[in-house]
Amino acid sequence: MTGSHIDTVRTGGKYDGNLGVLAGLEVIQTCQENNIIPERPLAVAFFTNEEGARFAPDMFGSLVFVGGMDVETALDTVGIDGARVGDELERIGYNGATPCPAHAPHAFVELHIEQGPVLEQQGIVIGAVTGVQGISWQEVTIAGQSNHAGTTPMALRHDPAYAAANIAVFLRDLATRYGGNQVCTVGKIDLHPNLINVVPAKAVLTLDIRNTEEALLQKAEAEVLEHLRQLESSEGISITTRQLARFEPVVFDERIVSLIESLAIENNHSVMRLPSGAGHDAQMLARVCPTAMIFVPSVDGISHNPAEHTDDHDLEAGANLLLHTMLTLCALETIA
Ligand SMILES: [Zn+2]
Repeated sequence: MTGSHIDTVRTGGKYDGNLGVLAGLEVIQTCQENNIIPERPLAVAFFTNEEGARFAPDMFGSLVFVGGMDVETALDTVGIDGARVGDELERIGYNGATPCPAHAPHAFVELHIEQGPVLEQQGIVIGAVTGVQGISWQEVTIAGQSNHAGTTPMALRHDPAYAAANIAVFLRDLATRYGGNQVCTVGKIDLHPNLINVVPAKAVLTLDIRNTEEALLQKAEAEVLEHLRQLESSEGISITTRQLARFEPVVFDERIVSLIESLAIENNHSVMRLPSGAGHDAQMLARVCPTAMIFVPSVDGISHNPAEHTDDHDLEAGANLLLHTMLTLCALETIA
């Protein structure tokens, strides 16, 4: 099986998801036109709601397909506009009758644009995707003492803005120390009352911590927590945390990853291994069958943006490699 998603975000580009579906159809058309009968049936999946922009959680079409969520729960999900998934699928004629969880495929390979800058920066056409980063999202609330910015001596302050900035710096240093695939982001800081001459009473910020290795992700989380405890005592503030999301890293099938690499080389495409920084339907399929992904470059690393672009020759290289990978996998008795 191959495939991807055809939903998008409101300001999305035309390649995210659609490439994997259209290339899958192209694979089947190419087989038909050339009278190639694969040794196993090929299927192209169009998974519902990969982005999660309207209905939460994201990737729930593929999650339902593999049995991670039951169909009724998915159909009863209400979106940000008050619409129910089941009603909307009915409306567009997509409410199918096939039972879920469905039969696990022999293997799953998804072609997708990288949505990041790495392949383009390295001048490489094909990414053999090794897995998907684990993700830890937390909301941190810091309560301090609001006071006059002119009259409060520095030594007597309990300043949530200082603590928030300190946490952002700590995260940057942590990512630098860990190196490898560690990334950390403070994407949002709200200060209250948010005035120029007032030491704030409260700060609320978000932490986005990702790594491809679960042990390192857990170590980073523990270090951050320990740092928050130290800040509490040194600054005389109180800090509470709330987990917003937590996904373990997914490791793709080594046999398929190296097959993608060797087929790329055979077809004269430059290739490198890289992890995915974004979530994809393939990570759900990895629960039930040998799975991997093929990436092609995104110009300037831009995605979720109408300016998203991938050059035609790179799209073609990815689709050809998908064809060869699928036909080779079809011919394998077992994948292990
Ligand atoms: Zn996508």
